[in-house]
Order: sequence, then C-alpha cells, then structure tokens
Amino acid sequence: MNHLEAWGYDPGHADAFASLAHDGTVPARVIEEQRDGYRVLTEHGEGRAQITGRLRHEAQEREALPAVGDWVALTLSPGAEQGVIHAVLPRRTALLRKEAGTTTTAQVVAANVDHVLLLTSLNSDLEPRRIERYLAAIWESGAIPSLVLTKSDLCDDATDSIRALGDIALGVDVHAVSALKGDGLDVLAGYLQPGLTIALVGSSGVGKSTLVNALAGGEVQHVDVIRARDERGQHTTTARRIVRLPSGALWVDTPGMREFGVWSAGEGLDEVVDDVAQPGCAVGAAIEAGQLDPERFASWVKLQRELAFIERKQSQRARLAQRQGERRFSKMVRATMKDTRRRKGLDH
Ligand code: GDP
Repeated sequence: MNHLEAWGYDPGHADAFASLAHDGTVPARVIEEQRDGYRVLTEHGEGRAQITGRLRHEAQEREALPAVGDWVALTLSPGAEQGVIHAVLPRRTALLRKEAGTTTTAQVVAANVDHVLLLTSLNSDLEPRRIERYLAAIWESGAIPSLVLTKSDLCDDATDSIRALGDIALGVDVHAVSALKGDGLDVLAGYLQPGLTIALVGSSGVGKSTLVNALAGGEVQHVDVIRARDERGQHTTTARRIVRLPSGALWVDTPGMREFGVWSAGEGLDEVVDDVAQPGCAVGAAIEAGQLDPERFASWVKLQRELAFIERKQSQRARLAQRQGERRFSKMVRATMKDTRRRKGLDH
C-alpha cells in the first residue's frame, strides 16, 4: 500500500483528481488545519501547504476552502518549503456547522469522513430527541452513523436503553461499551479498517478520548492532544487533524464535533423542546413552579433566534440566486433573438 492509499485514496479519488487536470499537480490529503496553513500528505510523505491566492479569492464561502480530510490538487516546487493547494476535490461527505459570528455560512468541520460513531453515556439520561437530531445530521453529511452507548460498567443492564433507541436509530448499529473495562471494544474495532476515516461525536465528558485511547491501545496518546479550558470551564481539544491509528484507520480529531449538528438538522427541533414550546405566561408559571429549567428555556429561545436568522439569510440567498438566474436567462433570450434576427438578415 503506498502512502496515499493508506490515507484513504482510491480509484474514485483518482478519477476526480484526473478530471481537475491542473498542470503539474499531485493529489494530497489535508491532515491538519493550522492557523497559518495546512499539513498535507502526498505520496512522497508529509509536508506543509498554503492555498493559492486565487483559491482564497474565489472561495466566496468558507465551505469552499480546504478542510481537514479534504483531498486536494497540490504543486510541489523543488526546493520550496511548502506545497501550494490549487483546488479541492469534490467531497464525498462533509460534517458542517454554522460559523461563529454574524455570517450564516457553514464551516466544514471535517471532510470525507466515512463513519461517525455517535457517543452517548449510559450513566446519564438518554436524550432520544437529541440523538435523533445528531443522527439526522450525520446521515445528511453523507457519512454512516453508529451509536455507541459508553460507560456500560456504570449501568446494570443496557437492554432497556438499546430498546428505547430502536425507533430513532433505525438502520443504525447500536453498541454498548466500557472503555474502562474493555467490554464491547472488539466489536468497535471492526470499524477501524485501514484507510477508513472515522470520527467520534458526542458531548464533552461522554468518553471520546478514553475510547479512542482504548481502541488505539494507548498509542494515540503520543499525539499530545492539547487540552484547553474554554470560558465555561469545559475542556476541549484544540487540534484539528487526522491521526492514523495503529489499525490503519484514520481518526479525525477536531474540536468542532460537539456542535456540528445545529446547522443541518434544524427541522424537528420543535419536537426536541416540545415541553417548552408553549409560549406566554405558562412558561413563566412553569419556571416559577420549578417545572421548567429557566436555563433550558433560555437556550431554547436562543436556538430559535439563531434558526430564524439562518432561515432568513438562506431565503435571501435563494432569492439572490433566482434573480441572478433570471437575469442570465433574459440576457440569453435577448442574445438568441439578436442572433436569430442577424441570421435571418443573412439568409435573405
Ligand atoms: P470526552 O470529553 O468525551 O473526551 O470524555 P473523556 O474521555 O475525557 O471521559 C470523561 C470522563 O469519563 C473521564 O473521567 C473518564 O475516566 C470517564 N470515562 C470514560 N469512559 C468510561 C467508561 O467506560 N467507564 C467509566 N466508568 N468511566 C469512563
């Protein structure tokens, strides 16, 4: 297996690369996003890369820029310290999230992920609606989801939980595991095929790092996953990269995995918050009576506002695209009519 195949390159990618036909470029995979560039993997090995000014200029949406996991067309000049990325190959899958700030563009958290393990912990309440929303977002990304119920050692019997998830996790494999005791890990090891790209998704504290380390037999620890405290005191990984596990599987390590679902799975949110969807004094009364957690209500209101905003922006975009389309169409009609008139003139 050459370098590229070990990183997931297959004949489909080769075809896509060939059809780009940029002179002198070689295929490469983005294995790390850095503040000021990328680390890429080519058949000659690993190195740094930048994007061309043109690609930066033409990428009106952040989505169009290379993200970790992307296959790109790269030039390597002899003696140059860095490669230059000319184009991003069409993505097979893309895990998206809304960009922070005022824009409504999506950010690619990770590209070309084959399989996403969605983790939920057996020692806290199952949140079926939330799981449903995440599963929807994973399906939408193009990747295949599996559900992993973690910390099975803290739960006497996972059967009820698995049954409760049966309806929403239709067509999705569900596994109960204990990274601590090693239970169920052999089944998960089946997902770690050489060249396949996998991601672990789930709330902070659900056991992602512990599971990855257990699956990797501890060897992934040498990649010094940097931990930083965010303002809420939770720890988050700051890296954004792909790590090759001992099995040959490619694990995407990015801090954006927690919130990626909000962008694409807006529908169904009303169901998630059914019990707080009744507006008016009932809400105030419920909060007063201690039946409704004010924080939960506040976050619901915030989410609704965000969604309304995204929706407005998206419809504006759609209108703009329609207008541009109409303008192009009428220009084309005018040109055709002119051409017809001209040809008729010549025919006579
Ligand atoms: P992450 O934030 O999703 O990466 O979660 P961590 O891997 O940091 O785990 C959070 C906490 O859960 C740590 O204290 C772990 O020791 C604990 N934990 C992880 N997996 C298990 C498990 O299988 N059983 C038990 N009992 N605890 C676990």
